[in-house]
Amino acid sequence: MSQSYDVVIIGGGPGGYNCAIRAGQLGLKVACVEMRGKLGGTCLNVGCIPSKALLHASELYEEADKNFAAMGIKTGGLELDLPTMMGQKDEAVDGLTKGIEFLFKKNNVDYIRGKGRIAGAGKVAVELDGDTQELSAKHIVIATGSEVTPLPGVEIDEKRVVSSTGALELDDVPGKLVLIGAGVIGLELGSVWRRLGAEVTVVEYLDRILPGMDNELAKTAQRIFAKQGMDFRLGMKVTGVDSSDPASLKVSIEPAAGGDAETIEADTVLVCIGRRPYTEGLGLETVGIETDPRGFISQGHFRTSAENVWVIGDCTHGPMLAHKAEDEGVACAELIAGKAGHVNYDTIPGVVYTAPEIASVGKTEDELKAEGRKYKKGKFPFQANSRGRTNHTTDGFVKILADAETDEILGAHMIGANVGELIAEVCLAMEFRAASEDVARTCHAHPTLSEAVRQAAMGVEGWTMQA
Ligand code: FAD
Ligand code: NAD
Repeated sequence: MSQSYDVVIIGGGPGGYNCAIRAGQLGLKVACVEMRGKLGGTCLNVGCIPSKALLHASELYEEADKNFAAMGIKTGGLELDLPTMMGQKDEAVDGLTKGIEFLFKKNNVDYIRGKGRIAGAGKVAVELDGDTQELSAKHIVIATGSEVTPLPGVEIDEKRVVSSTGALELDDVPGKLVLIGAGVIGLELGSVWRRLGAEVTVVEYLDRILPGMDNELAKTAQRIFAKQGMDFRLGMKVTGVDSSDPASLKVSIEPAAGGDAETIEADTVLVCIGRRPYTEGLGLETVGIETDPRGFISQGHFRTSAENVWVIGDCTHGPMLAHKAEDEGVACAELIAGKAGHVNYDTIPGVVYTAPEIASVGKTEDELKAEGRKYKKGKFPFQANSRGRTNHTTDGFVKILADAETDEILGAHMIGANVGELIAEVCLAMEFRAASEDVARTCHAHPTLSEAVRQAAMGVEGWTMQA
């Protein structure tokens, strides 16, 4: 006998588990199928959470090493205990994944372990250890996420040539680490291992880092990361990694525009050139769904081309971010329940959790120029922010872009300590379609880093007062 549900969700990452919880809250009979043995998806198991645990610990280590003495704190002999650092990361992951199991019980979600496959309209087959269980569902939600994009000529063994997953599990600090790709993963995990002692070289195909982010932010970030010790080889492509010598990897690189090849040596190579949608063995053909050439499942308001089959998160279009997947999961459950679920894609922030942090929301200057939209901007440096000065975190700035006529905020781009938290204020302002003047005239506590946001907003109308 197959079990019947209103909604069966395939995938238990931030898209799937939030969709399941919201569906449960709305009184739908819901099951979430997950094959990894743990809930939380890429984000909790091998993504956001373990990377942030290592970023936090390694930042404290570097602070203690380089900056404590200037603040009158003597530490004595500082020592890295990598197994303990890895252990606290694993604890954070375990606690949070178990937390989702608790939330499932609380919201009447059935957690079904195994690999899910669509087996025709309204049917999901779940395979576990050779057994197949069939579920029937009024609605099926695909939330199967993404996987690492491989690079031809570079074989990932997760020991010496690693993806982000292996880079979160290294047993020793590599002497020399080469990153292929200067995107979010490269800069975050490169920062972790640089702080712990690795010599880091970043090979990037484009002539800039962090493609897609505001150019001024990316340039400032590159200058700061270079000062911290990262070596950037921009406009270069990796053509292969030779791992035949057990003592050292040989990474072949050449200019992307053509030119002489060279070899750089490494103990560890991290391949981080992006992620691709994961829909392998999902039975899409049984309901007539086709993926686009890059493997993404297309949708309109999360509805696929097949009736009552929905898709959310990394396996459909849009930024590959946990909070985007989460918001889509919530809106999708609400639509299934007959409510007005909606995601505002103009206010989804992007944060890079390096030191300093980098955060963006809305349009970049390049995008506004390309659209021919007239805008004004206000910019404020953390050098002039009193809290930045007292905390010795003076790198970076806040930039706010607003419509030249209506003053509506169109985007904000920040680099500096804690800007991953500061960006939320602008997201909220943009949700309410606030003008820059609304932020400029809002009282901000003193002394806080958030005052830099206010001063930047003042700058849109040319009345920044503290710089
Ligand atoms: P996933 O989290 O990938 O979850 C999909 C789940 O579906 C997986 O658990 C998979 O096992 C399961 N699954 C797949 N197929 C099947 C099947 N057939 N049957 C059963 N189960 C199946 N994003 C941020 O917003 N902030 C960050 O700080 C951040 N840091 C990151 C750091 C790293 C190193 C990486 C790799 C990613 C990071 N991301 C971050 C991106 C974020 O992890 C993803 O955007 C997010 O996890 C996408 O959620 P999802 O639910 O769509 O997919
Ligand atoms: P990315 O898209 O951020 O960066 C990939 C980089 O690799 C780009 O700069 C690209 O130009 C470069 N590249 C591509 N092919 C190359 C080649 N052959 N040689 C050299 N460089 C090449 O991808 P990522 O860093 O792998 O991250 C994957 C996804 O995970 C991203 O979509 C990101 O949204 C998500 N993520 C988010 C966070 C966060 O929100 N803090 C953290 C980690 C990952």
